[in-house]
Amino acid sequence: MRTQVAIIGAGPAGLLLGALLHRSGIDAVIVEQRSADYVLGRIRAGVLEQTTVDLLEQAGVGERVHAEGLRHDGTELAFGGGLHRIDFNALTGRHVMVYGQTEVTRDLMAARSQAALPTWYEAEHVAIADYQSAHPRVTFEKDGVRHQIECDFIAGCDGFHGVCRASVPPAAITAYEKVYPFGWLGVLADVPPATEELVYASHERGFALCSQRSRTRSRYYVQCASDDDVARWSDDAFWDELRRRLPDEVAERVVTGPSIEKSIAPLRSFVAEPMRFGSLFLAGDAAHIVPPTGAKGLNLAAADVGYLAQAMREHYGERSDAGIQAYSQRCLSRIWKAERFSWWFTSLMHRFPEAGEFGARIQRAELDYLVGSKAASTALAENYVGLPLA
Ligand SMILES: Cc1cc2nc3c(=O)[nH]c(=O)nc-3n(C[C@H](O)[C@H](O)[C@H](O)COP(=O)(O)OP(=O)(O)OC[C@H]3O[C@@H](n4cnc5c(N)ncnc54)[C@H](O)[C@@H]3O)c2cc1C
Repeated sequence: MRTQVAIIGAGPAGLLLGALLHRSGIDAVIVEQRSADYVLGRIRAGVLEQTTVDLLEQAGVGERVHAEGLRHDGTELAFGGGLHRIDFNALTGRHVMVYGQTEVTRDLMAARSQAALPTWYEAEHVAIADYQSAHPRVTFEKDGVRHQIECDFIAGCDGFHGVCRASVPPAAITAYEKVYPFGWLGVLADVPPATEELVYASHERGFALCSQRSRTRSRYYVQCASDDDVARWSDDAFWDELRRRLPDEVAERVVTGPSIEKSIAPLRSFVAEPMRFGSLFLAGDAAHIVPPTGAKGLNLAAADVGYLAQAMREHYGERSDAGIQAYSQRCLSRIWKAERFSWWFTSLMHRFPEAGEFGARIQRAELDYLVGSKAASTALAENYVGLPLA
C-alpha cells in the first residue's frame, strides 16, 4: 500500500487527524490494533473545549455535538459544606461542551466509513521503520497476512502504551513524569445527573466529581488509593462514599442506579519531548498524559492533530515545511500550560496522604481565595475552557 500519511491508532487523535486530512484532500490510512467495537466501548473523557468543537466542525462532524452536546457556562466547586460557582461565560466569554469521547469517536468512525476511507482494525504486530528518512514504512499483520504501507509521514496517535514512542531510541527522547499517590474510582450509570453543571468536591475523605455524559447518563468519581481494587467496591458502597463527600444539597439529589461501567484510573502527568523525529510525529496520549481533573486529555489530543493537519496542508498545498519544523515546539508550549493547570487543579482538590493538616489548611485557604477573587477565578476559568491555539 502507498499513502501520504500513515496514522497509527484509531482513538480520537487518529480518527480526527484522518478526517481533517481527508477534508484537505490528503490521503491517509489508519492502522489500529483493536476492533472498532472495542475502541467504541472505552469510556473516557467527556468535556470538550470550544477549540475541540471547532476542530470537529472543520472535520465535518460538528452536527451531533451541537445538537446533543450540553453547553456548560460554568462549574461548581464544593468545599466546607457549600457550593461556589465559577462562571466561565461571565469571566471569559467562553464555555465548554459536555459530549462523551465515545460519541466523538462514533461520529468520526461513521464519517470515515461513509467516505470509504481505509482503516485496518485488529492489526497485529504493528511496527514502524525508516522514519528518519523521506520514505518511512509501517508493517502489520491482519488475519495472518503481512502488509506494508509506504508513506511520506507517520502520525503516532497510538496512545500512552503505543508502539511509536517506544520505537524512538531512548537517547533521542526525554520523558518528564509525575505519578500521583491515588487514583479515581469512576462509575458510569444511566441516571440523570444530580446537577446541571459539574461539581468538583474537596472533602476530608478525598476528592469527588459529579460529571455527566448526557441528560440521562451520569459519570461520578471518587479519589481512591492507587492500589485499591475495583472488585472491593459494590455499587452501594460507591454511592454511599460519593454522597459522603458532597454538600447535602447535592448529595440528596444524586440519583443512584446500577453501574454500567466501574473502573479505577491511575493519575499521572507525563510529557515526552520532542514530538517529532524526522517523518514521525507523536500526537495525543502517545506524547503526553494529564490527570483528568482539568478535563484536558482529549482536548490536547485534538489540538495536536489540529496543528499536525495544518502542517500537512502547508507541506502538500503550499510546499512549505514551516509547520512541520514548528510542530513539536508549538504543541509543547500549549501542552505544558495544560500540564501545569491539570497538576495545580489536582493538587488543590485532592487529599495528599503525606501533606497532613498543614497541607489541608493551605488547600482551604487557596479555595477561599479562588472563589473570593475575580482574578483567581478568571485564571481557573480561562484554563478550564481552554487556552487559545497559537
Ligand atoms: C481510563 C481513562 C479515563 C480517562 N478519563 C478522562 C476524562 O475524564 N477526561 C479527559 O479529558 N480525559 C480522560 N482520559 C484521557 C483521554 O481519554 C485521552 O487523552 C484520549 O483518549 C487521548 O486520545 P488518543 O487518541 O491520543 O489516545 P487513545 O484514546 O489512547 O487512542 C490510541 C489508540 O491507539 C491504539 N493503539 C495502541 N497501540 C497500538 C499499536 N501498537 N498499533 C496500532 N494501534 C495502537 C489504541 O488501541 C487506541 O485505539 C482518560 C483516559 C483513560 C485511559
